[in-house]
Amino acid sequence: MEDFVVLKNKYEKIKSENRKFDMSRGKPALAQLDTVNDILTAITKGEDCVSSGVDCRNYGGVDGIPQIKALFAEILQMEEKEIIISGNSSLNIMFDTVARAMMFGTVEGEKPWIHSGKISFLCPVPGYDRHFAISEAFGINMINVPYKSDGPDMDFIEKAVAEDESIKGMWCVPKYSNPTGITYSDDVVRRFATLKPKARDFRVFWDNAYVVHDLFDGGETLLNVFEEAKKYGNEDMFYIFVSTSKISFPGSGLAAFASSKKNIEHALSKIKIQTIGPDKINQLRHAKLYPDVKAVIAQMEKHAEIIRPKFNAVLSAFEKELSGIEGVWWSKPKGGYFISLNLPHGKAKKAVALAKDAGLVLTPAGASFPYGIDPDDTNIRIAPTYPSLPELEQALDLLCTVVKLVCNEAYKD
Ligand code: PLP
Repeated sequence: MEDFVVLKNKYEKIKSENRKFDMSRGKPALAQLDTVNDILTAITKGEDCVSSGVDCRNYGGVDGIPQIKALFAEILQMEEKEIIISGNSSLNIMFDTVARAMMFGTVEGEKPWIHSGKISFLCPVPGYDRHFAISEAFGINMINVPYKSDGPDMDFIEKAVAEDESIKGMWCVPKYSNPTGITYSDDVVRRFATLKPKARDFRVFWDNAYVVHDLFDGGETLLNVFEEAKKYGNEDMFYIFVSTSKISFPGSGLAAFASSKKNIEHALSKIKIQTIGPDKINQLRHAKLYPDVKAVIAQMEKHAEIIRPKFNAVLSAFEKELSGIEGVWWSKPKGGYFISLNLPHGKAKKAVALAKDAGLVLTPAGASFPYGIDPDDTNIRIAPTYPSLPELEQALDLLCTVVKLVCNEAYKD
């Protein structure tokens, strides 16, 4: 164990340097955004806006233009008629999907959730804070589900949904999960596809945000849950979400909702009242840049070239500085946007606070848990993409110093 006084002095020195770093959110770096700039000039004239007889400047096309539906169908390995294209945010669709179930029920004839008494969602932890924020906004009770190495604990889930009718939903990030980096195994996906929930209107919110976001060794593959579910007549149970936020621009991309015929019809019956049509010019811009999934994969390789060294920097700093400290371990994801760092019980909040005092903003400790409460206070989400590599290296120097400090036996709060 390193000398406590040496560590403390190092921390105080860094603090006095007034460094400022932000690793709080999984945002693409400026260099990544610049790889997409051709989209800004993909359409410059009125006649460019007319495609397959559709004038994208005008109203209409509530479910999206055919080229983009085809692109998402290829990405998700689903059918075009199972997909609705929306604005730039999949979170927006998730929020609306919960709101629709609350107000109108999941399908015609089902009771609106708001009239069903207590509503609960299963939440694998650590998970995505904004999923939990949606549940909380609607007053949905959240139940923590532990993770195993190949996905959430399916024994727990199968039992809970079979016994508890208040469980109407579950949040899932099945590939390169935020923040654990875990991709669900085939076995886990098959067990999802064959769930037998007590609540007929139980829905899995399958947020495939990192579907093409491979970084290392060709990435990991995720079994197609929808295809599996169809084999058992369970396809109505899945709401699938995806977006181009981390393919093109997070602020100006496209998002999609994919599901069974019944669910799509129900969703469209309400969306048609919400809007006369989405931003089809942006859809067309994307179609011009990404005519097929190959073009998307080529784009993702450009992102990976920028992101990979940053993930490597985090992993090698942790390996060099933190390995061997009891109770400290971290994920080694093959893709996605996050690394999950775990400290001994009761240390995460303190480490995040000390980092903040010295100029490094991390995602607040506990944010990856429902209600912001990490019961063990162990988890810190590391988002390495946004800072430049030199900034990241300095931030890691500070982060590792802070972790070693709070884990040192001489450390007192
Ligand atoms: N889902 C997950 C799992 C995410 O990690 C993020 C962003 O970090 C989002 C959704 C946000 O998606 P969008 O930009 O499409 O709203």
